[in-house]
Amino acid sequence: MNTETIDHSRPGARSPATGEALSEVDTTPVEAIAGIVEEAREAQADWAKASLGLRSRMLLEAAEAVLERSEEIAEIISQETGKSVPEVLLNEVSGINEYAKVAIKEAEATLGPAKVSISRVAYPGKKAVVESVPRGVVGIIAPWNYPFSIFFKPLFPALLAGNAVVLKPSEFTPRTGAWLAERFTEVLGDGLVSVVQGGGDVGAALLESGIDAVTFTGSVATGRKVAARAGELLIPHSVELGGKDAAIVLADCNFERTLAGITQWALHNCGQNCGAIERLYIEESIADDFVSRLAALFEKVRVAPEFEYCEIGPLQNPAQLETVERHIDDALKKGAELLAGGDRCNGGQGLGFRPTLLDHCTDEMDVVREETFGPVIAVLRVEDEEEAIRRANASNYGLNGSVWTTDLTRGKAIARRLDVGVALVNNHAIPGSMANIPWTGTGDTGTGIAASRYSYPTFIRHQTIFVDSSRGPDPWWFPFNEDTRELSETLIEFSLGSVFSAIKLAGIAKRRVKAIREWVSESGN
Ligand code: NDP
Repeated sequence: MNTETIDHSRPGARSPATGEALSEVDTTPVEAIAGIVEEAREAQADWAKASLGLRSRMLLEAAEAVLERSEEIAEIISQETGKSVPEVLLNEVSGINEYAKVAIKEAEATLGPAKVSISRVAYPGKKAVVESVPRGVVGIIAPWNYPFSIFFKPLFPALLAGNAVVLKPSEFTPRTGAWLAERFTEVLGDGLVSVVQGGGDVGAALLESGIDAVTFTGSVATGRKVAARAGELLIPHSVELGGKDAAIVLADCNFERTLAGITQWALHNCGQNCGAIERLYIEESIADDFVSRLAALFEKVRVAPEFEYCEIGPLQNPAQLETVERHIDDALKKGAELLAGGDRCNGGQGLGFRPTLLDHCTDEMDVVREETFGPVIAVLRVEDEEEAIRRANASNYGLNGSVWTTDLTRGKAIARRLDVGVALVNNHAIPGSMANIPWTGTGDTGTGIAASRYSYPTFIRHQTIFVDSSRGPDPWWFPFNEDTRELSETLIEFSLGSVFSAIKLAGIAKRRVKAIREWVSESGN
């Protein structure tokens, strides 16, 4: 049997694991979106006035409401993605409360007013404070690979900052986004977390609907369009796009941990992870042994729904399956050696694909250059760490990069040379689940920052409250007279550290203020 047995082509209509038909989801009419954003704006006005403490308590309540029904959402995500319920519970759902708690700490460290230090000599009587003001309504556009957690990553900081949000789930996974919005609405009330459903046209319309900021996670092609349009609209945007992560395995690695770690992070989420290890650079001296053991592990990884306990699900959609097969064909034609996998599974009813290891890959192959986003790893053998670093950095993408070695000092030095947003020693991609580490990259991975205090520029603007308690005019105001030049010269001396200039300045300032007052009072004659 092959995948032609069941038609998987209509986005989100069938389970990718079993081919079973799923419930219909209504598309949001494009002309209704501006109204939804307007309702969000009305709800946001009160939310923005609430204290951070109150917002935090309510968001923890929302996270708890999710966990009370964790089996239900795990089932929905499982149906939409084909991943098993235990996998979904572990990787997408179970961490939401802990994520919220850490996100609250990040908000507390970020949102408080910041006092500005102002020289009392140069600027007498002046005080300023910089406050964080929510943007208003934030659009959150997400893909299908982690349809739940990619929403809650921006959801917490956006809401903690005092915004309302409108979610746009992928049309491949619409029910998950809708469920999340329902749980938050039960706790927060109507309008603060809304959802719009449909394809790319709905995402594009959301950008035109009056939103004040947008976070986008998805492909490079769409991310470019979103960033370009957000630029024209002059709204802040965070775009997080693809990856082609490299792992560098050195001869002195901890063999067992490295084998398990590479298997984990190449195949996690069936490789449909922007932070998946897709390229493995390994020192030639251990390559034969390591690669044959890795291939044996790949063969042991089980694909849903064929096993009760399985490590990975199927590909989520036929386009992803085609990309995987195209990359493998291209690599084999160009001389790669297939050591594990390479074909479909699940009897053709679903979109399952066996974990695939390609050895002796070269830089010309699609599987080394383009994002595969599937359960495939390309092995590239190198002479030494210098060659590994050079070739790992020769990518359009730069999300995660890892080095595997027992020499942690050497590992850190190599990690710093990787042209990526998240550089790791002896692990990979795990910071993606942490609310206090910025998830960001270089090149085609995009300029966006997900999670942590560093993501806040999308969700807040800064407003300065400047208060002047001086009773008289400032000494540098109009009119100019012979003291004006001396004032400038003394200010220069003061800036260069002259201790006497402060006393001198006070005298000049007094004369200047007197002159300005006379000038003003003359206007009354
Ligand atoms: P897409 O870019 O196709 O879609 C992402 C979202 O954008 C979907 O909701 C999609 O709707 C919507 N969309 C499509 N066209 C437009 C448009 N013109 N304007 C606004 N929104 C639009 O990506 P995929 O869903 O295929 O996701 C896979 C990609 O996501 C991979 O390349 C992967 O690397 C990347 N990704 C990046 C991550 C990161 O953190 N850097 C994390 C996870 C994934 P619809 O699906 O309904 O068409």
